Amino acid sequence: MSRQGVVVLGSTGSIGTSTLNVLRRHPDRFRLVALTAGSNASLLAEQIAEWQPGFAGLVSGNGPACLLEAATHPDASIVVNAVVGFAGLAATLAALRAGKRVALANKESLVVAGELVQAAARQGGGELVPVDSEHSAVLQCITGQERSLRRLILTASGGPFRDWEPERLRSASVAEALNHPTWRMGNKISVDSATLANKAMEVIEAHHLFGFGYDQVEVVVHPQSIVHALVEFSDGSVLGQLGFPSMELPILYALTHPERLADRAGRAFDPVAAGALTFEPLRHEVFRAFHAGVEAGRAGGTAPAAFNAANEVAVAAFLAGRIPFGTISDVIEGTLARHENLPAASLEAVQAADRVARQLAEGLAA
Ligand code: NAD
Ligand code: MG
Repeated sequence: MSRQGVVVLGSTGSIGTSTLNVLRRHPDRFRLVALTAGSNASLLAEQIAEWQPGFAGLVSGNGPACLLEAATHPDASIVVNAVVGFAGLAATLAALRAGKRVALANKESLVVAGELVQAAARQGGGELVPVDSEHSAVLQCITGQERSLRRLILTASGGPFRDWEPERLRSASVAEALNHPTWRMGNKISVDSATLANKAMEVIEAHHLFGFGYDQVEVVVHPQSIVHALVEFSDGSVLGQLGFPSMELPILYALTHPERLADRAGRAFDPVAAGALTFEPLRHEVFRAFHAGVEAGRAGGTAPAAFNAANEVAVAAFLAGRIPFGTISDVIEGTLARHENLPAASLEAVQAADRVARQLAEGLAA
């Protein structure tokens, strides 16, 4: 088999560097053809020196168009989108329209424009494969029996504040919010995991990827992060995918689905070492960003884009020390309450909704 050309968007981040680790182990299978980064010029320069890709772009220097150039690179069959936030959307659409397989870590693409993303895949013959560990787990469980799905039980670690009292949580520090119990990730998704906004995004992501209705998805807290998702089929059978937390397996699977490639990255699973696996309900009244996000998904139109924009603004304000942790969900709820919901019929419509919601959220976070 000839080597597949791979593009990595967001190569300097947590998922980007994990993707390069995967590619480094499989030089006879994959060839890196393009890299892009947001603003980390020195790490990008190191990566260029190591990989000698045909194309490299730094968004802070070359502008956002370099993402589209990389995403549609003629030598690539797979585009790993590991950009964080709304900034990843246009590249997802462009790659799918160009007929690429998109290994999607940038879940925000599906949250803000799920229908447009699916339409782009249909138009261009592109294929969308999730990198998110829960959705990779679902894909691994359902492949070959997609027609018999009844219910998805999406697991959540619960984040660093799983059992905190609401009072203490309101003034949690940045360091505490970034101290995730089971995963090491970029700052934005770490905060999203602490508010559970991340899990709302994953419910929306599951809806668009696999066609689950919002009433078919249940979220359950599983602090050990060993069971990555559980899928119930029409006959009542439940399948799950298990393993010690590592993003390299879902990244590799997104590159090779529906095949598997022999690999020795992760620590071999040991059920005795994993210990007791526990499950508990999500505290909806405490994690209000979760509820707001799922309701935005249910409402459809531009509501999920407004949810995402408000969340990005609020998380940035929290990380900059401008608002307390507890205010993140206030900003999200306040923005959605003022949002005028319109059809998300085009990229321009979604971009306009994103802009308006950002302004509303900036006002609320001031
Ligand atoms: P990160 O912050 O570590 O990396 C983000 C990457 O995006 C960096 O390379 C950065 O340079 C680039 N970037 C930032 N702003 C940009 C912009 N405006 N334009 C272009 N590039 C930009 O984040 P991460 O943890 O790697 O997460 C990346 C994506 O993957 C997010 O959507 C996240 O939700 C998703 N994800 C991450 C994990 C994880 O374990 N880290 C798991 C599941 C999903
Ligand atoms: Mg996840």
